[in-house]
Amino acid sequence: MDKIVSLCKRRGFVFSGSEIYGGFVGSFDYGPYGVELANNIKAAWWQAMVHREPNIVGLDSAIVTHPKVWEASGHVGGFSDPLVECKACNTRSRADHLLEEVEVFADEKMSVEEINAVFDSVREKISCPKCGEKKFGPVTKFNLLVKTNLGNFKDDWSADPAYLRGETCQGIYINFKNVLDSTRVKVPFGIAQIGKAFRNEIAPRQYIFRKREFEQMEMQMFVAPADEMKLYTLWKEKRMQYYLDLGFKPENVRWHEHENLVFYAKAAFDIEYNFPFGFKELEGVHARGDYDLTQHQTFSGVSMEYLDPYTNEKYLPHVVETSVGVDRTFLAVMTEFYDEDELGGEKRVVLRFPKKLAPIKVAVFPLLKNRPELVEKAKEVFALLSEHLRAEFDDNGNVGKRYRRQDEIGTPHCVTIDFDTLGEENPMLKDTVTVRDRDTGEQTRVPITELITYLQQ
Ligand code: ATP
Repeated sequence: MDKIVSLCKRRGFVFSGSEIYGGFVGSFDYGPYGVELANNIKAAWWQAMVHREPNIVGLDSAIVTHPKVWEASGHVGGFSDPLVECKACNTRSRADHLLEEVEVFADEKMSVEEINAVFDSVREKISCPKCGEKKFGPVTKFNLLVKTNLGNFKDDWSADPAYLRGETCQGIYINFKNVLDSTRVKVPFGIAQIGKAFRNEIAPRQYIFRKREFEQMEMQMFVAPADEMKLYTLWKEKRMQYYLDLGFKPENVRWHEHENLVFYAKAAFDIEYNFPFGFKELEGVHARGDYDLTQHQTFSGVSMEYLDPYTNEKYLPHVVETSVGVDRTFLAVMTEFYDEDELGGEKRVVLRFPKKLAPIKVAVFPLLKNRPELVEKAKEVFALLSEHLRAEFDDNGNVGKRYRRQDEIGTPHCVTIDFDTLGEENPMLKDTVTVRDRDTGEQTRVPITELITYLQQ
């Protein structure tokens, strides 16, 4: 983990939020390569979930909605985590996480009484993660919704707040009818969305794994009640295959079944990834019944029923959900593709990203920085490539250093413009360049006219 965190900072992937002010807990900024990687992660998901799925359409709903949305969804009343405070140092921790460390199960669905009973039964085994004392107060419930005064100009706005969305899928449910009435879709169909979500996490930790402001990629598939479990099984398979297709090793991803289902859910499994701190939730795949549409129908008074054009049957569609965080995928991708090896007798760090995720697809170098004819030609090649691929022009330091820098950010190819490119040494090599492969270090001479095809293979 330390190696990943340091690489992310050193090479401009991830910075601590508000660093010059001493940081801001649970907040991180993506740097120049991080934003490219995050964008590629989102593009890969969007391509798989929207472009390649004939029955799924996209959406970008507002972050702040009518507050009733969050009453209907159950978040105002029940979106809370169990909090316990250390009486010695005042550190607040998640009671369920402390219990997990002593191998006792608890979760946010338990009542305060239940979780206190469980906590009391093992109290003497649990120490504060900060000071090591065993002086905890009682477990209380802390609501994770983040309040805002957007559109509310009263001094006592917090009595009547709006909320920053705690998950993106509520924006999907409230637009179910709009999408149905304005597009060609028929049940079963899905709506996919990528966007920011906010939670007042009690103890954000493990780097970008648990943030207070994070991004989700969610898809809700609206299905006929009788088809729910069939489509649930299908989506479970598809989502696991997605990670294998990205290049994750099968031993690094596994299923985890929820021990304690919410009353309306038919099934809930998580895809867990083998993070540096162990297997933890990356994505949730849930069969949610008709809970969400029922709630919004009740609270809004607007019918959410679907009239099946083939059977003339009217019903409330059930929902199969897939939900994953951009930030957790980012950390999983960094973990999966981080490698150290030796190339040409030298130790190096290399990110073996698949091409579609690599922040930079190709780096273009003039062999020497102080030879204008090489620099000019390299800039020409950069201009040509950057029309088709995310390319980077680099003339800092010697070529060996540039290779190491590009290996560390996972660039699959480096292209060097040398005197042969100019036809100065061997006229047969005029207008060819050296392409160096990140993984093998092999160098191949390629004509500039064939470069784009070569790099896109
Ligand atoms: P956890 O149990 O780890 O708190 P959760 O079960 O509350 O997660 P969901 O509400 O199912 O998470 O959210 C769906 C996905 O959103 C998660 O699988 C995760 O990838 C991502 N996610 C949730 N909370 C956070 C967070 N605080 N920071 C980063 N990503 C998050």
